[in-house]
Amino acid sequence: MFRMAERSYRFQNLSNGEPLDVLIVGGGITGAPLYRQLCGLGYRVALADKGDFSSGSSQASGMLIWGGLLYLKNLDLPTVIQLCKARNELMKAFPDAISVLTLRYPVSPAMRRIPMLLGLYAYWFLGGFALKRPTMGTTLEYQEGMLRHSDSRFVIEQIRAFDSEHGIPLNHCRLVAAEFVRDQRCWTVRLRDELTGREHEGKARIIVNASGVWADEVNRLLAVESPWKHVFSKGVYITFPRRDGQTDAHIYPMPGADDVLTHVPWGPVMMWGPTETAIRDLESGLTPAREDIRFLLTSANQSLPQKVDAQDVVSIRCGIRPLAVARDDSRNVYPLKLSRHRRIVAHQEKQTILIYGGKFTSSFKVANQVAGLIGRWIPARFPQPMTFSQPPQTTEHGFVTAQWARDHEFCVTLEDYLRRRTPIAQWTPRMGLGRDGSGRESLKKLAAAFTPKPLEAEAMVEAYERQVCATYDPLLATL
Ligand SMILES: Cc1cc2nc3c(=O)[nH]c(=O)nc-3n(C[C@H](O)[C@H](O)[C@H](O)COP(=O)(O)OP(=O)(O)OC[C@H]3O[C@@H](n4cnc5c(N)ncnc54)[C@H](O)[C@@H]3O)c2cc1C
Repeated sequence: MFRMAERSYRFQNLSNGEPLDVLIVGGGITGAPLYRQLCGLGYRVALADKGDFSSGSSQASGMLIWGGLLYLKNLDLPTVIQLCKARNELMKAFPDAISVLTLRYPVSPAMRRIPMLLGLYAYWFLGGFALKRPTMGTTLEYQEGMLRHSDSRFVIEQIRAFDSEHGIPLNHCRLVAAEFVRDQRCWTVRLRDELTGREHEGKARIIVNASGVWADEVNRLLAVESPWKHVFSKGVYITFPRRDGQTDAHIYPMPGADDVLTHVPWGPVMMWGPTETAIRDLESGLTPAREDIRFLLTSANQSLPQKVDAQDVVSIRCGIRPLAVARDDSRNVYPLKLSRHRRIVAHQEKQTILIYGGKFTSSFKVANQVAGLIGRWIPARFPQPMTFSQPPQTTEHGFVTAQWARDHEFCVTLEDYLRRRTPIAQWTPRMGLGRDGSGRESLKKLAAAFTPKPLEAEAMVEAYERQVCATYDPLLATL
């Protein structure tokens, strides 16, 4: 595999020299902005993810940078106010990455239109009047932000700015063991390179557990406890081809639940979903099930003007929402009723920070908060400029090239490229292969970026195709 030399160099950096100031476990939207901020403040930081960066919940979101209108129903005002504020700040800070999205809710004479409009006005007020005033005609209309490219790209953009002996980004690298050495006030950690199986030892003064739905698993490795736990809510979207002139996002009531489904334009597709299903074990939430797809197709046919079936599905997105509740909470409620608040626990005696719950939208606020806590334990050093700030090299379609992603964005597999560095696997049927497999030749050319040997590139595409046939195709067969 190309570029393994850079990976070994990063692992060497981890083991050599001074201990890290901070090891962040989890390279999703919680870990990534924190990594960027701490590197900028001059700390020596490593960001480790057991898979690719953004390969957990952060690759499955609705990509809305939103104020949490739905939580207004639960009168969860603190969450709504905080999310609105976070939304406004993010939209201001990243005008190129986040665009304004107008959402429309079809109204019928049977609906309680005035209370709904008043609710939207309250939301607009809580959001500091930052976006356009809600209106009511044949639809109720209001605005939010939406990531322009994708959730994963946004995460990776945060990480790629720092790659040096002071900022060590390590994807496909799992924390497997950790021990706090009290007299040295320092952690000894073991990290496994998931691509080679080799284990590397390092030292870190502080560990931040930003591993999302895996937080409890990582806490067990750290032997730390938390007053919070996660309730897991599985969410699935399917996408359909976007027709000419489909520029609007719509919201519809979810059949059989006090919830909604959205139909949102994203590049050449329309996203339909998400489902909201409480699950007990993580494994069952990580992959979509046929019932999820069946539910989404049925509800699409009840709500959308055009009829759709399994043949129309371009892609499927599936992830788990990490919802923070008190450890002794045993309520059995529909997940939407649970708060989306982020909870941060600081264990000073073991110099560990645990992060529970939260949203894409609130992640930068959390990064600020956690950086503040870290500053109390280790004062910030000299501010560091980004080690890399060039804009990416792109293809005619506007996607970052495979070579660029390999050289500057830690991309090591074809799947990393198709699913997270670009939206190719989401915008082309059968995860980039095309319905009839006609995308195979293009994928071979892309695979060449990850191996110098043509036969290996071919084998890479064959393995990818086998994975699509085994996991993706059966989900849509005879639905
Ligand atoms: C269907 C759906 C729709 C959503 N829509 C929105 C939305 O529109 N707007 C919004 O603001 N939010 C939305 N969210 C919520 C948001 O996506 C999540 O809150 C957020 O992505 C969680 O990010 P995270 O970084 O905490 O977790 P993750 O993205 O899961 O990252 C945790 C990482 O930790 C890594 N990890 C775990 N264990 C280890 C280990 N031992 N060693 C190394 N690494 C490890 C994992 O591989 C993973 O990549 C949605 C969520 C879902 C599921």
